[in-house]
Amino acid sequence: MQAILIAVTASTSWAAALGDHAHVVQQGMRALPAWLQFVLAVFVADLGQALLHRAYHRVPLLWRFHAIHHSSLHLDWLAGSRMHLVEIVLTRSLVLVPLVVIGFEQAVVNAYVVLAGVQAVLAHANLGTRFGWLEHVLVLPRYHHWHHARDRAFVDAHYAIHLPVVDRLMGTFRLPHDGRWPEAYGLLDPSEVPEGIVAQHASAFRRR
Ligand SMILES: [Zn+2]
Ligand SMILES: [Zn+2]
Repeated sequence: MQAILIAVTASTSWAAALGDHAHVVQQGMRALPAWLQFVLAVFVADLGQALLHRAYHRVPLLWRFHAIHHSSLHLDWLAGSRMHLVEIVLTRSLVLVPLVVIGFEQAVVNAYVVLAGVQAVLAHANLGTRFGWLEHVLVLPRYHHWHHARDRAFVDAHYAIHLPVVDRLMGTFRLPHDGRWPEAYGLLDPSEVPEGIVAQHASAFRRR
């Protein structure tokens, strides 16, 4: 997954051409200090990612691909890599395009890619640690674990992967205040996704 992420990053230079009429925005952006650019880049990327993620859940054709990510019955650091190849390439490309077009410095985009890789692993990890108020600022394991909960009340929640504020803006923030973790993980209907990486990749192309 991370190798594909790096390959996609390297191939987004064509997107910079799209930014020809975005010169004013790009110049303004590059005048900002790098740390501020980074914060803005994470917000823009996560908003784009979360809207796309919600589409994966709501559009039946896209759900066929995303259902594979939700078929994990136990979450651990590797669960973030259980994904259909089409989803990895589509999501990573679409999330990076606005970053390049808006004109964030390359070092900022690279730093974002590192954060995305680290947070994808961290968010799925079975750390079992609660981080208190920090769970409201950054997406940490308990936050994303609820996105994977086998619980009808959470099928439309926690689409952000970096900043919970994005879910607050989208009305999909549901972190339980009592520090609970989900009791079970996986699809409401486990028969939706077969076992085995080859069968899973093929199943996404089959009409249901
Ligand atoms: Zn999802
Ligand atoms: Zn996940």
